[in-house]
Amino acid sequence: MKDRTQLELWLVTGSQHLYGPDALAQVASNSQEVANALNHSRSIPAKVVFKRVGETPESIRSICMEANDSQSCIGLVVWCHTFSPAKMWIGGLSLLNKPLLHLHTQFHRDLPWNAIDMDYMNLHQSAHGDREFGFMCARMRLERKVVVGHWQDSEVHERIGAWTRAAKGWHSIQGAKVVRIGDNMREVSVTEGDKVGAESRFGFSVNGYGVGDLVEFVNGQMDSDVDALCAEYEDEYELVEALKRGGKRRESLRDGARIELGLRAFLKDTNASAFTTTFEDLRGLKQLPGLSVQRLMRDGYGFGAEGDWKTAALVYLMKVMGEDLDEGTSFMEDYTYHLHPEGTKVLGSHMLEICPTIAAEKPKLEIHPLGIGGKEDPVRLVFDVAPGPAINAVIVDLGNRFRLVVNDVDVVEPDEPLPNLPVARAVWEPRPDFKTSAASWMYAGGSHHPVFSKSLDAEAMEDLASIAGIEMVHIGADSSLSELRKELRLNESFYHVNRGFSFAG
Ligand code: MN
Repeated sequence: MKDRTQLELWLVTGSQHLYGPDALAQVASNSQEVANALNHSRSIPAKVVFKRVGETPESIRSICMEANDSQSCIGLVVWCHTFSPAKMWIGGLSLLNKPLLHLHTQFHRDLPWNAIDMDYMNLHQSAHGDREFGFMCARMRLERKVVVGHWQDSEVHERIGAWTRAAKGWHSIQGAKVVRIGDNMREVSVTEGDKVGAESRFGFSVNGYGVGDLVEFVNGQMDSDVDALCAEYEDEYELVEALKRGGKRRESLRDGARIELGLRAFLKDTNASAFTTTFEDLRGLKQLPGLSVQRLMRDGYGFGAEGDWKTAALVYLMKVMGEDLDEGTSFMEDYTYHLHPEGTKVLGSHMLEICPTIAAEKPKLEIHPLGIGGKEDPVRLVFDVAPGPAINAVIVDLGNRFRLVVNDVDVVEPDEPLPNLPVARAVWEPRPDFKTSAASWMYAGGSHHPVFSKSLDAEAMEDLASIAGIEMVHIGADSSLSELRKELRLNESFYHVNRGFSFAG
């Protein structure tokens, strides 16, 4: 996948020429120090570069145009060290098409009570410089994140870090290709949607291919490569007896490996970042792709089953957002419930396609029948997911707009082992409680295909929704059903008239 280590955040510092060259030089050198500190923060997964001081309408406009043009700039961080009359920012900000974070900080943490004089106050006046800038952002109805606090505070780094992940995901989804192998599972509603609307809103394209295009790549693989990949499986996973060398079902493992090699070659050929399959369109493939999809997700590809292109794109996006973190992200499905009054739990899984980046232990490589699709038994990785906080997130198409729905959940140990369940699975307790969560999710129209992530939290998703300019409904510890229903009704009217509120001079 693409190298994202060179992506940059640009720190731009607001000031004005009236302070004179000495003060502006001091502003620039302090800004350089702030940028260096943010650049070294482990919470911020991008290079932080001090660009320059914006001191006139012309210089601000040229910085914003440079940011728009730059392939490496994923967003602007603006801080007004001094007063910076904000009419100077109108021209630049109205052109800016990169995500914006307003960092409200101050160079010195502590007030020098004894030494403070008028010069000090004039140089360190973000307290009102940033309020002037904040007014203009509000006046222009700009989507942005406001982060408040001293630049050496690790909590401030975390707030910037969450937004940086969203900005990185946003950058990566621009121009990304989602390929659909086959169409939608017949008659399913929530996996459908407006692909043209999605491309203009999110920047990724969605195009369809016949399964025959994939089959050609699968059939073209060499036996020696198939055997080499089977050896790789032996190193990485615990194989059941039947799949080991000389085992009764070894040929099925080889079929699975051939599908993986073909799928990889197909995705490379189409320059895809995400893909969908559907079990209703598998002509020419021996098995429903299971193991191969699991391993491609592990390598950063987005995936959605049954033609679910919105989820495929979101899996890819969220994998980029969390790629610097240890825990993983996977395609998921709310599958079945434990409705015990003393601890209701959700068992999440899918027919096959769960990403091993969320596995608690070395996955087992198994083969079992699949009662759907009418194909040979598919090989798949089976594992549990370790306890801990996670989120489920989906994008749905409401006809006139997209909505992101996010629910905080806690993964728990299964009450008992699940020796007869032949798929990877996670067991979780949703917040604030099962009944509120499930009802909220359904009032919000959330699909049964969430993206499950142990690496991201609701904050990063809220930052993403803000950058994308879409609605987000968050179901968390403080959610109540009546508030949520009110929010949905209010959002309905807000998003209907939003265009009229937007900056239009
Ligand atoms: Mn499904």
